[in-house]
Amino acid sequence: DAGWATTRFVVGGFGTAGYACVDSLLQVGAEHVIALDDRDSEALREKAQILETLGATIKLGEGSTTTLPDEVDVVVTSPGWSPNTPLLVQAAERGIPIWSEIELAWRLRDPANAAPWLCVTGTNGKTTTVQMLTSILIAGGHRAVAAGNVGLPLLEAVMDPEPYDVIAVELSSYQLHYTSSMSAHSAVVLNLAPDHVDWHGSMEAYAADKGRIYENCQIACVYNVADPATEQLVLDADVIEGCRAVGFTLGTPAISMVGMVDDLLVDRAFVEQRASSALELAALKDVKPPAPHNVANALAAAALARAFGVSATAVRDGLRAFELDKHRIAHVADVEGVTYVDDSKATNPHAAQASLLAYEHVVWIAGGQAKGASFDELVEAAKARLRGVVLIGQDRQVIADALGRHAPDVPVIVVESTDTGAMAQVVAEAAKLAQAGDTVLLAPGCASWDMFANYGARGDAFAEAVRRLGSTG
Ligand code: ADP
Repeated sequence: DAGWATTRFVVGGFGTAGYACVDSLLQVGAEHVIALDDRDSEALREKAQILETLGATIKLGEGSTTTLPDEVDVVVTSPGWSPNTPLLVQAAERGIPIWSEIELAWRLRDPANAAPWLCVTGTNGKTTTVQMLTSILIAGGHRAVAAGNVGLPLLEAVMDPEPYDVIAVELSSYQLHYTSSMSAHSAVVLNLAPDHVDWHGSMEAYAADKGRIYENCQIACVYNVADPATEQLVLDADVIEGCRAVGFTLGTPAISMVGMVDDLLVDRAFVEQRASSALELAALKDVKPPAPHNVANALAAAALARAFGVSATAVRDGLRAFELDKHRIAHVADVEGVTYVDDSKATNPHAAQASLLAYEHVVWIAGGQAKGASFDELVEAAKARLRGVVLIGQDRQVIADALGRHAPDVPVIVVESTDTGAMAQVVAEAAKLAQAGDTVLLAPGCASWDMFANYGARGDAFAEAVRRLGSTG
């Protein structure tokens, strides 16, 4: 395609995604590629040098991203950059198209030989659903891969010389914001709750960006029956003629849904003969762990896989073969009859609420950076299960206030120390509150960056403290 050679690209950000964008553009013959990043380091310089010998221009260091060069046709933006970033503001003012790496990957596919995309977004459960889906596709005998926000960078999956049959794509709302021509084979918005609203400007804008996943969808737009906002996004989308809306539900499915009948996951959407008969896909025990939100993810993954034509047996085998990633409702240990669970990945109240509702009696460990979120709904929904609460981190008082408003009888211990070692104290306090048979659940409902490098480090600190408790207690 001659277009690639003559188009003048500016790639904003030179992290992992930026590197992949420049590299891919050079591979398809682009001759005018500039990448800009305010950061500078030995490692970045080394990477820059590799691409500069191939013909790109890389500018690193302070001030590199303040001004958009004069001669630009397309700006490719880094996944984290907000629309307020000077480079993107200038591009918008000058009417220059802004592409996410997803948009670039879509355009770089070789249409004659391209794998269909099964796309997943939502506030919570994206990674889990994409991994379950990949496991199912592989069980169905396909050469499939998880890509996007998880696993392989999408550009790498698309540019792989040995093409995939199908790609399971995790998309964030940031990436969707700058994606316009993608046409997914099938797509799902798992759920919608406030998160990253400051980036998008409003809840409506956040929802609208998520809804872009359904634009031009070909076969099935999958939505969450329990979350009508997701169905509304399907109704609002322009899809390819013949594309169907398919719901997933933890209840009994109506026609054109997947759902539960007794302890079975069943399909009433992709059944061959009569839509009135439900097809058994898997048993509840095939989903590990069978927490309601995890079953919802499994149903969403099953719907996408079935839309792609995978057999019911493959759905069951794929779910059986699947294991949750670290720090997602992970069993840590049992100490004196109390079960300790690490759900450090629950970084917003919606996620923490889903975890809490999976246990009957819980000592809840929460806190961190709340990102402006409200905990009122969570406390209201979970209060009957709370044996007690231990709070840490920067926004501990935000959660304490919500508990005071809605659950004044639940004992709350606030740990004031915010150094990393405070986790030992937190676990000790939780152990005191717990009774035999209870679950102590780390589901912070907050980001970890006030005290830890990331959610993984937070979960590791928790597990370490539990281990010590077990060995001394
Ligand atoms: P994401 O990729 O969207 O961040 P993950 O699959 O990594 O999602 O799960 C993140 C956290 O969200 C989990 O630890 C769990 O607490 C919660 N979660 C997972 N699935 C759901 C769901 N369907 N609804 C609500 N919360 C969920």
